[in-house]
Amino acid sequence: MPRDSFNREIDYLRISITDRCNLRCVYCMPLEGLRFLPNPELLTPKEIERVVRAAVSIGFRKFRLTGGEPTLRLDLLEIVARLAAVPGVGELALTTNALMLDKLAAPLKAAGLARINVHLDSLNPATVERQMRWGAFDRIWRGVMAAEAAGLTPIKLNAVVAAGYNEGDVIDLARLTLERQWHVRFIELMPLGGGECASLSIKRYVSNIETRRRIEAELGALAELPSANPADEARNYRLADAPGVIGFISPVSEPYCGSCNRMRLTADGKFHLCLLNDDELDVRAALRSGNGDGGIAAVAGILARAVAIKPTGHHLLEGRSTRDRSMYQIGG
Ligand code: SAM
Ligand code: SF4
Repeated sequence: MPRDSFNREIDYLRISITDRCNLRCVYCMPLEGLRFLPNPELLTPKEIERVVRAAVSIGFRKFRLTGGEPTLRLDLLEIVARLAAVPGVGELALTTNALMLDKLAAPLKAAGLARINVHLDSLNPATVERQMRWGAFDRIWRGVMAAEAAGLTPIKLNAVVAAGYNEGDVIDLARLTLERQWHVRFIELMPLGGGECASLSIKRYVSNIETRRRIEAELGALAELPSANPADEARNYRLADAPGVIGFISPVSEPYCGSCNRMRLTADGKFHLCLLNDDELDVRAALRSGNGDGGIAAVAGILARAVAIKPTGHHLLEGRSTRDRSMYQIGG
């Protein structure tokens, strides 16, 4: 397994396949001034497969497709089928806003996807409309149901908590775990990429200490669960007698850089070394160089170097992170 210079085992690649989205969450994408990657700049399904073959060859085992909104790629099923068929791919998952899952959940499962994380900030349709913008709660909910019916389980819901938007809605979200074997996870806002979304993320930040207090005041004590996976970015808890799990992802109030196991690939073919830093290494040129093996050996070399120079630590507490890319351009 590849280890970085801080002795962290890095075996998880998060692959962004588009920077486009069918929502405009207030902390992620502004309504105006967006410029998306032209199609020729996106990695093709074959190129993504070659990156994954390279990653597996140096010890990566876990892969996740993200975006932007990954279900907007018309060739998503081909991408999933190609990656699922690569020997050595241990786990293949997807992060999505679920708007398209109603139709896609069953074909995704059939193509080899193991599970999904769904981003949903509230069970209140009016809050979803205001916070995720263009967000139709009913359609997202139908998508989640379709995913569960298709066996893309365990269902994990991710809610980003923003003051003045959904901080009170965390209770209804947490209550879901009393009825279902789902994981409901609360994420602290991070300011990425400068601009209005980064400013909002600073201004509307809610600590998970506060979110946890709010949930416990209403639903009772949370019991901490032993960590099944030390690299899990969530700290997990359970309400008394609940089948589901409540997780807190707290990059600001409780940074987890020390156990980070991730590398990221952007939709335009760069290894992005850390979510909260700008450092990148290009892989697209190697993939398109015309080498006999499709650049796989060269990409494996670039990825090994990316792991070796992966940074640690961030400046979220000072309200700073990336300069160049926003969340929708990295993939979360
Ligand atoms: N569109 C998909 C979705 O929303 O799940 C995948 C991409 S999205 C960029 C991945 C994750 O980033 C989502 O769970 C979203 O909530 C999170 N996210 C976006 N902007 C954020 C911010 N400013 N702070 C914290 N999380 C953020
Ligand atoms: Fe789209 Fe996901 Fe960003 Fe929301 S968080 S705007 S769904 S990419």
